[in-house]
Amino acid sequence: MTPAPSLATPAVTRFAPSPTGFLHLGTARAALIAAKAAGPDGHFLLRIEDIDRGRCRIEFEQAILEDLTWLDLRWETPVRRQSEHFADYAGAIGTLRATGLLYPCFCTRADIQREIAAADGAPHLLGPDGPIYPGTCRGLAAAEASARMAAGQPFAWRLDVARAAAAMGQLHWHDADAGTVRATPEIFGDVVIGRKDTPASYHLACTWDDALQGVTLVTRGIELFPSTHIHRLLQALLDLPTPAYAHHPLVIAADGKKLSKRDAALTLRALRESGHTPEQVRAMALS
Ligand code: GLU
Repeated sequence: MTPAPSLATPAVTRFAPSPTGFLHLGTARAALIAAKAAGPDGHFLLRIEDIDRGRCRIEFEQAILEDLTWLDLRWETPVRRQSEHFADYAGAIGTLRATGLLYPCFCTRADIQREIAAADGAPHLLGPDGPIYPGTCRGLAAAEASARMAAGQPFAWRLDVARAAAAMGQLHWHDADAGTVRATPEIFGDVVIGRKDTPASYHLACTWDDALQGVTLVTRGIELFPSTHIHRLLQALLDLPTPAYAHHPLVIAADGKKLSKRDAALTLRALRESGHTPEQVRAMALS
C-alpha cells in the first residue's frame, strides 16, 4: 500500500501541455491550478508533451509560452521538451522489455476493428480510451514476432497489463478528492508503450518525466484520472516514485460539453484580442 505522500515540503508541480493547438480556458485552468498548487515556496515546472510529431507544432509551443506569460505565470527553466528525450523513453522501453512483459504488436487500426467486430456476441469491452485491444499479437510465437520485426514490419510495443498487474501485486495512489485509490490498470487492456510512429507513448513519457523531474504533486484534468491507473503500474515496473495526484473538474462550454481546441472563441488569444485582461481570463478559467 502506498502511504499518502507527505506534502509538508514544498510541492513540485507541472503543467504538461501538448502543443497541438492554442491554449483555451480549459488548458489555462490546468496551468493555473498547477502553478497555485506549487505555492510560493514550491517549484512549478513546464513540460511540452510533443512526442506526436504529426500533430504538434512549434508555433503552438511558442504561443503556449507567450499565453502563459500573458497570464502572469512563471515556471522554472529549463522547459522539458519531450521530443528531445526519445533516448530516455527508449531506455525505459528496454527496461520493460527485459521483464518479458512487453510484446510487439503488428496490428493496424483496421485489423483491430475487424477482430473486435468478428468477436460477434462477445461484449465489446470499452476502456477509457475506446475499445480494448483484443490481444491478437499477445500470443504470437517469438520466432514469428522476431521474423516480422527483422523484415521491417511496423510494430508497437504493448504491455501485457494483466500479467504486469499480477506481478506487481496490489498498487495504490493518493488522490486529493478520491483518497486512497486502488490501481486497476486492467481497465485499459494492453496499452501501447512505444508507438509505431514514435518510440514512446503518452503513458510512458509522462510517467517517466514526472519521476525524472521530481514532481511530487500531479495536478491535471479529471479526464486523465483513468490514466493514473496505468501510470501507477508503470511506476512499479520501472521502480519510480509515486507522486500525489489531484484531478480537477474540466471547464464546461456553453453547450454543456467539455471545452476543446475547437472552441476558438475561448482561446486565450481570442479572449485577449476581444479586450479581456489576464485577471478576467484567470477568473473565467477558475470559475
Ligand atoms: N499532455 C497532456 C494533455 O495535453 C496532459 C498530460 C498530463 O497532465 O498528464 O492533455
